[in-house]
Amino acid sequence: MRAITVVPGKPESVRVQDVPEPVAGPDQALLETLLVGICGTDHEILAGLHGAAPAGSPFLIPGHECLARVVSAPPDSDLHPGDLVVPTARRPCGDPACLPCAAGRSDMCVTLRYTERGIQGAQGFQCERFVEEPRYLIPVPSALGTSGVLVEPTSVVAKAITEAVAVQRLRVLGQARTALVTGAGPVGLLGAMLLRSLGLRVTVYDRVDAASARARAAVSLGARYVSSQQCPLETLAAGAGYDWILECTGAPSVVFGVIPALGPSGILCLLGVSAGTQTLAVPGAELNGLLVTRNAVVLGSVNASREAFRDAVWSLGAAQVTWPGWTEGLITRAADPSAAASALAAGPQEIKVVVRWRAL
Ligand code: BGC
Repeated sequence: MRAITVVPGKPESVRVQDVPEPVAGPDQALLETLLVGICGTDHEILAGLHGAAPAGSPFLIPGHECLARVVSAPPDSDLHPGDLVVPTARRPCGDPACLPCAAGRSDMCVTLRYTERGIQGAQGFQCERFVEEPRYLIPVPSALGTSGVLVEPTSVVAKAITEAVAVQRLRVLGQARTALVTGAGPVGLLGAMLLRSLGLRVTVYDRVDAASARARAAVSLGARYVSSQQCPLETLAAGAGYDWILECTGAPSVVFGVIPALGPSGILCLLGVSAGTQTLAVPGAELNGLLVTRNAVVLGSVNASREAFRDAVWSLGAAQVTWPGWTEGLITRAADPSAAASALAAGPQEIKVVVRWRAL
């Protein structure tokens, strides 16, 4: 079967090649791939900055945002041929001392020896077919349509918001009213959607201009869009007092530059994984003083639990009712696998580029 492959650590090594057909074991389902989204992590893998092939394999099949259809499933599972599913990305470390992994919460793995399909030590989904255990497959209603491919990135934000709500409830009874989202890529926009669904007043901040597809997607949710072309981060942050900030750029200057925008008991959720080794001079005393005197929280969050995947399915379905066409509109290009290199290299004029392996 065909697969997109990359050699981790080797920039621009992407190609399409034949790989062995997967064979389902007795406890595994066989899936045919429909759509696979491309995200910032894939761009970093392509640039040779991130990712690892499975032990013994010369290449990595990337792709961790997948919508697939069940071909066959173990008889004792709840899955049936034809069902639509989204696979989770992370697999447990297998160390019995890692309580989160043992409890099915590999997103909180403490040994950091987990694997992630399509990213870290396990083959991903940019291929025609794959096998997986039912416990790692999330059923998706067919009504979600192509938006099903957005479940994985939505789950990442859904987990972070659940964590932030839990922390803030302990402090100010969860009375958040205003939120800032830095980065208007898919994760930022999906975050803005989830925060708008919670009734918050949301500002989205990015480099792209106000006429771009990303900015328009933010505005059509009822969010305010501010471009750094018009307003430097220091100006936006001064006296802003946001209850929540979702940081989705991973750019170190934004991560630290946005701290002054936090209000009392505010929470800065960091979602963007920074690649590379960039260093930065920061006003450490000022930022520390600000965090302490405002009882502010900086919370890192990665990956997602099974519950967060289910929340994501629910929230995307609800968004289809509240903002018809919005979730589908985030998918600005569906590329053929043979165009993998250009799809993986798409820039900020796109929102979400997906590879279409098979029609829905
Ligand atoms: C993925 C997560 C993953 C993280 C770190 C993100 O792009 O959506 O599932 O845990 O990268 O590798």
